[in-house]
Amino acid sequence: MTVSVYFAAGRRLWPEYEAHLPEALREAGIDAEIRLNAPNPAAVDYIVFAPSGDITDFTPFVNCKAVLNLWAGVERIVGNKTLTQPLARMVDPGLTEGMVEYVVGHVLRHHLGMDAHILGQDGIWRNHILPPIARERPVAVLGLGELGRAAATALAALNFPVMGWSRSEKKVAGVDCHSGEAGLAHVLSRAEIIVLLLPLTPDTTSLINAERLALMPEGAFIVNPGRGALIDDAALLAALDAGRIGHATLDVFRTEPLPPDHPYWAHPRVTVTPHIAADTRAVTAARVIAENILRGEAGEPFLYLVDRARGY
Ligand code: NAP
Repeated sequence: MTVSVYFAAGRRLWPEYEAHLPEALREAGIDAEIRLNAPNPAAVDYIVFAPSGDITDFTPFVNCKAVLNLWAGVERIVGNKTLTQPLARMVDPGLTEGMVEYVVGHVLRHHLGMDAHILGQDGIWRNHILPPIARERPVAVLGLGELGRAAATALAALNFPVMGWSRSEKKVAGVDCHSGEAGLAHVLSRAEIIVLLLPLTPDTTSLINAERLALMPEGAFIVNPGRGALIDDAALLAALDAGRIGHATLDVFRTEPLPPDHPYWAHPRVTVTPHIAADTRAVTAARVIAENILRGEAGEPFLYLVDRARGY
């Protein structure tokens, strides 16, 4: 029987997926018809979704077996009351690789003090300022899920003493794992570089507030490729102005695109990257979608299902 897949992630993304999704479904042995619209919503078996796409009301898709999100973060869909179908988020090896590279790159930039040489070539030979080696620089990764674990493991492989923090207790080889409020205070008060890879939920909104920023070592660096609203912006700006926080590299913001007049753009201690830390890669994501459809058709549990109550 032909499976009906509605690609509702927006026409902008379609050319990329057109090159890979039909092939991935074929390779998985799935006979599928992919449509960019749904004239008969009741006939749709699976929805490939992105928040920038076409659907806000899932009610008419009465026979849809799963909504397959192209993004890792689900905060813009998880609260949609019309969505009663199972929701899977994206766990994509290509996305994970991209995130590991972003995190390692920006952590090393701060660790090695690269800016001093890249931005400060003034003819003065300052060979007395040497960065410590990685094993002397404690770093922390908040969020030990698919992305946080991979980033923490890569940093540990470079000899950084890595601490991690998550909701439930975790064991990650080479990472000193913590959880709970006391665990957060432990990690924040020791890490000189903090990487945020938490999902945005009611529990994590403004997690990095004035009180928690005050726990961090003087001059600590923050790298946030998680979600903008994990940080209380006013508190961060105050900590940056005071030099309490040495620098923040921010990829994600409460409002995106970040408005041109936002103080982050001009702040000397802030680096803005425009939500490019890690994109879902169509070539690898198409295989993940095919695998989940195969599971759905075989009556097996879907991979990467979102827990609506937890919000991620
Ligand atoms: P994930 O696998 O769902 O992992 C989330 C981690 O956060 C888990 O370790 C979880 O703890 C922890 N967590 C959740 N709520 C918490 C809380 N209240 N207190 C402490 N820890 C908490 O997610 P992921 O795939 O790693 O992705 C993480 C986030 O990265 C996404 O949600 C998205 O916002 C962001 N992202 C950004 C980009 C970009 O380009 N900038 C790209 C992709 C993703 P447990 O392990 O105990 O559940």
